Amino acid sequence: MTDRIRMQTPLVEMDGDEMTRVIWTKVKELLVEPFVELRTEYYDLGLPERERTRDAVTTEAAEAVRKLGVGVKCATITPNEERREEYGLSEMYRSPNGTIRAIIGGTVFRAPILAKGIVPYIPTWRKPITIARHAYGDIYRNTETIAPEGSTAEIVVRTKDGAESRAPIHSFDGTAGIVQGVHNTDDSIAAFARSCMAYAVDTRQDLWFGAKDTISKTYDRKFRDIFREIWDAEYAEKFAELGIEYFYTLIDDIVARVIRSEGGFIWACKNYDGDVMSDMVATAYGSLAMMSSVLVSPDGVYEYEAAHGTVQKHYTKHMNGEPTSTNSVATIYAWAGALRKRGELDGLERLAGFGALLEAACVRTIEDGIMTGDLYALSRADSKRQVGTEAFLRAVAERLRALA
Ligand code: NAP
Ligand code: MG
Repeated sequence: MTDRIRMQTPLVEMDGDEMTRVIWTKVKELLVEPFVELRTEYYDLGLPERERTRDAVTTEAAEAVRKLGVGVKCATITPNEERREEYGLSEMYRSPNGTIRAIIGGTVFRAPILAKGIVPYIPTWRKPITIARHAYGDIYRNTETIAPEGSTAEIVVRTKDGAESRAPIHSFDGTAGIVQGVHNTDDSIAAFARSCMAYAVDTRQDLWFGAKDTISKTYDRKFRDIFREIWDAEYAEKFAELGIEYFYTLIDDIVARVIRSEGGFIWACKNYDGDVMSDMVATAYGSLAMMSSVLVSPDGVYEYEAAHGTVQKHYTKHMNGEPTSTNSVATIYAWAGALRKRGELDGLERLAGFGALLEAACVRTIEDGIMTGDLYALSRADSKRQVGTEAFLRAVAERLRALA
């Protein structure tokens, strides 16, 4: 082995739970440490440590990511009532991803990982479609109520000086009904637009955005206008230099074009659209285990993770001493993304290049016909072989050594 790649600034490493925690240690041991003199600031976000610190560790980790600029996170349990019992929790801690997002801000980009032999349900999708979901407001921060028969509902906006403007919603004559109030803010929409445009530049892909501004002439129109203003003022030139496009059309038109497309672009979605469409896109590409995810703040902080959870069922098997065949690709891609970004930000070419090699080694392994059970079920390769969790990692390591 040649000399290991040196790092400069550490990465923030956030460990997690269950099967992905098992995989985490192996990814470092087999795929990272033999090649890189790894420097990380380590935070254990596994549930026992969150309990011990009363979840302070999650906040500390998120603040470290803000400070150092790049983090990589393992999947973690979001507690529910069953988990509270299982782990003897003194509180129902919030989702770590929610806490981290609240501190770092920004937008989550989810992209499928493609390999020959794993054919999407829409076979014309030859390149990844990256979904960017606006994670603030709309129905996720709504206020809703029942309107009794005979009642009248209106929107009242009161200014700082106490002036009121009123707009009628509906008079419920002859029937009861329902009313909902939703909001968004110019700042949040602008931050979303900037994250999407920065990520389009970073990954050299076109950016598509769709809303329903023909129907929602003030609310959705605002999204369209803010995107346009920021693109004109801050990104039009940069996009032109790179030969990429910003494209706005109605959401229905976008959906039709996405289906007909060959992929290879970023699809910016309003909150609800992103919630729904990201599940559709993930399913269409085949497996949640092949979906990578990165949180990008408008001021350039990057946090990488796998889109899937802790794969609890496989962990139960693992703990019972049974063999497992859990897909580690999205976790490996999280490490690859973080190392590449760290290398780019620190001007370390070998480190940035290593991220790309790590990704290539995963794809090559699958294309050589070596895969975990989830992909084995989907693959149309002529000769394919299902391997266990660790055997897959070792097969990737073998290919990585040949590439590095
Ligand atoms: P999950 O961990 O994503 O797993 C759901 C099922 O999807 C698995 O049982 C497995 O199907 C398949 N799967 C997912 N990832 C896989 C992989 N890498 N390799 C092979 N198969 C994979 O979701 P969950 O079981 O609903 O959630 C488990 C825990 O994860 C929960 O406590 C939840 O809070 C947490 N979670 C965390 C995050 C995060 O940290 N970002 C995200 C989602 C969920 P088969 O059993 O059919 O093989
Ligand atoms: Mg959803």
